[in-house]
Amino acid sequence: MVSRVIPVDPFDLVIFGGTGDLAQRKIVPALFRRYCAGQWPEATRIIGAARGALTVESFRDIVAESLRQYAPKRSKDPEAVNGFLQRINYVPLDALSEDGWAPLSELLSTDRIRAFYFSVGPRLFGPLAERIRAHNLATPQTRIVVEKPFGHDLESARALNATLASHFDEGQIYRIDHYLGKETVQNLMAVRFGNMLFEPLWNSQYVDHIQITVAETVGIDGREEYYERAGAMRDMMQNHLMQLLCLIAMEPPAKFDPDAVRDEKLKVIRALDPVEPHHIVRGQFAGGKQGRGYREVVGNNRSTTESYVALRAHISNWRWAGTPFYLRTGKELVARSSVINVMFKDAPHSIFGEEAGRHANALSIRLQPNEGITLKVTIKEPGQGGMRLVDVPLDMSFAEALGPENQDPPDAYERLVMDVIRGNQTLFMRGDEVEAAWAWTDPIIAGWQARGDVPKPYENGSTGPGDAELLMKRDHRRWQGINP
Ligand code: NAD
Repeated sequence: MVSRVIPVDPFDLVIFGGTGDLAQRKIVPALFRRYCAGQWPEATRIIGAARGALTVESFRDIVAESLRQYAPKRSKDPEAVNGFLQRINYVPLDALSEDGWAPLSELLSTDRIRAFYFSVGPRLFGPLAERIRAHNLATPQTRIVVEKPFGHDLESARALNATLASHFDEGQIYRIDHYLGKETVQNLMAVRFGNMLFEPLWNSQYVDHIQITVAETVGIDGREEYYERAGAMRDMMQNHLMQLLCLIAMEPPAKFDPDAVRDEKLKVIRALDPVEPHHIVRGQFAGGKQGRGYREVVGNNRSTTESYVALRAHISNWRWAGTPFYLRTGKELVARSSVINVMFKDAPHSIFGEEAGRHANALSIRLQPNEGITLKVTIKEPGQGGMRLVDVPLDMSFAEALGPENQDPPDAYERLVMDVIRGNQTLFMRGDEVEAAWAWTDPIIAGWQARGDVPKPYENGSTGPGDAELLMKRDHRRWQGINP
């Protein structure tokens, strides 16, 4: 099975912040891989625009180096690299002054799709939108792509939405949550809505609870300043875990179209109850054999920023009333693993008696690494005299099932950048979704501040603070393991 490549029309893509980390590590390599796949035509132009006074040649050198580093396999083909570099341009430009805007304007073609990627710090999002409009660079075929973080709280997200809305239609604004670009996250929708098997059971009558885990082994090195202001709640929970929660809990949209999907996601967020303080655990990595503690890393021995959060959420609607959702995410944990566990209820009656034990089905959807699904089913334990039961996994790795040519699926940025060019907003967050997510998050953070909450320390390389286990234990449940 070979994935299909649907070519797009020529476009101009301006990357504001083109010399930055995100542009060079993710966006440019993603564009290169799509170029190698033959998805975009030769006439396309990628224009880096940033503060550095570089020539086009020196910018191309930077791009060539990042291809070597971040697209090592394909960058071994000199013809592909040279072909790609010919499409690369550069304009020194300042988002906060008039410098560079006239040369940028001259470079752009009038008759094609035009995308402006805001790969700069969030304080520049508003000024960029204003200058694009002031210099008449926004045609009806123009899209803007806005990176995370989208606001720091509800008020700032509203203000940013209002600024962008004064210059662009909602249909032109692409707010990135790169989690939505991951092949396996889209697979969540395919598994749920492409199969007859799961959906009839997908409600509180049959599902005991759902666990969503996004565990990271990395710390916050290189992002200390940003992270100290954000913490795990803002950095991960408000966006990535919230998006996973929406996809797992939403009603089936009538079709796979941007507003149909986003309407359903929004309903989930709006149906979330406020989280009770005793249903949240905050943690902070404290060091140990596997590295330094958070406070040492940020150079603030009184920091109360959380690098871990676990919580129990409730969705008050017909489908989910009574089924809790347990979400957890953290840094410096034992393994890198993103997984959703749908834990079904016990069978209503056991015909095998007490000695057979209690058994329940569980569906694990692994998003990374080793993407796939495992269904835990109960069978008879072989060889015993009586009828004893045992749980066994029905395990499917997508890579194995789909064959070797699909071992290297497009990465999230490849998918998302091409969706921008195609004008498909399904995998991008709408303004009202982002605001609703902040409206749920803000009171949690305000509660911590009001109570002077201090996160619980946990050892680097562990599964997180012990209190997160208690959160489950109190409900007679337990977390599934964090397995790589
Ligand atoms: P960076 O500091 O590495 O790069 C910033 C870029 O902005 C540089 O190219 C710089 O020249 C340019 N710039 C700064 N001031 C400017 C001005 N006044 N006018 C024009 N250009 C200016 O930052 P980054 O890590 O690439 O992050 C960019 C954005 O992406 C941020 O909003 C960040 O939160 C977001 N983001 C980054 C990552 C990541 O992995 N780096 C991941 C997710 C989101």
